Amino acid sequence: MKNMLINNKPPKLIIGLTGGIGSGKTAASDLFAKQGIQIVDTDILARQALQLGSPLLTQVFNHLGKQLQLEDGSLDRAALRTLVFNNPTAKLWLEALVHPWVKDESIKALNEATSAYTLLSSPLLIESGQTNLIERLVVIDVPESIQIKRTSARDKNNPNLVKKIIQQQINRQDRLLHANDIIDNSGDLNDLQKQVDLLHDYYLKLALIKANEQ
Ligand code: ATP
Repeated sequence: MKNMLINNKPPKLIIGLTGGIGSGKTAASDLFAKQGIQIVDTDILARQALQLGSPLLTQVFNHLGKQLQLEDGSLDRAALRTLVFNNPTAKLWLEALVHPWVKDESIKALNEATSAYTLLSSPLLIESGQTNLIERLVVIDVPESIQIKRTSARDKNNPNLVKKIIQQQINRQDRLLHANDIIDNSGDLNDLQKQVDLLHDYYLKLALIKANEQ
């Protein structure tokens, strides 16, 4: 690892970004990335954790069953989603396997990032105890009705499934209580861009102050 943690935090400014399903985390992160900011995305890491060849994947097949294995040896992700959706014990087991790996990989990636500050984007940032890695938290906020509309349009799935997933996530008010900054993504993509630009300028200033303190 290039830089070691200082007081459990990477030495550079890390901003956490979270929000409920379909709130616009990816849309917002893409806009920060266009400004040259590196994004560590735990959703991407969680996919990598269970890709073909991963030792974690072998454990999944051994523990949850070979019926989750596709012909080419990879994971049937849809079958796994259905299994954990209906089986809370399996869900807890899977989280205990994947979350620590994702956290370790996130720390590595955060330490290797070279942009002025780095974003840690995670749908479970609050729930999975990753807040000790970040200095500020920006929450992407939209009303539930917009989450349902945008997610079911994007994934072409049933609004009731989206509602169930929202019910399993931290609720909107509790999530907002953890926020240092809030992006209201109930407007159009231009509105989102304006808010990201303002926050980006602010975070650049914070990053400069932090760099001068060290
Ligand atoms: P998930 O939690 O499922 O990973 P997410 O929080 O990353 O979702 P996005 O995928 O960024 O959410 O956004 C959900 C959908 O809404 C996408 O199709 C995206 O293009 C669209 N979207 C995001 N923000 C806006 C906006 N301001 N106006 C219109 N559509 C938007």
